[in-house]
Amino acid sequence: MKVRLAVDLIACDGRGLCAELLPELITLDDWGYPMLARRQVPAVLRGEAAAAARLCPKLALRLEALEARGRR
Ligand code: SF4
Repeated sequence: MKVRLAVDLIACDGRGLCAELLPELITLDDWGYPMLARRQVPAVLRGEAAAAARLCPKLALRLEALEARGRR
């Protein structure tokens, strides 16, 4: 199953913990809010991405399943 990262920018407090935990996929903008370099999470970073989502203090970062093409 492929997964992607998503950020709820309304809930996010912009302190940047996720970028410290997952710098391969998350950078911060000038105000400290996360920017996702790649939305799809490579399999090799799945564990780190799950940890970043779990540790987000505002529950603003989450992993979402990507639907497989051709499935209904
Ligand atoms: S850890 Fe969560 S609250 Fe903090 S910047 Fe990242 S998404 Fe926002």
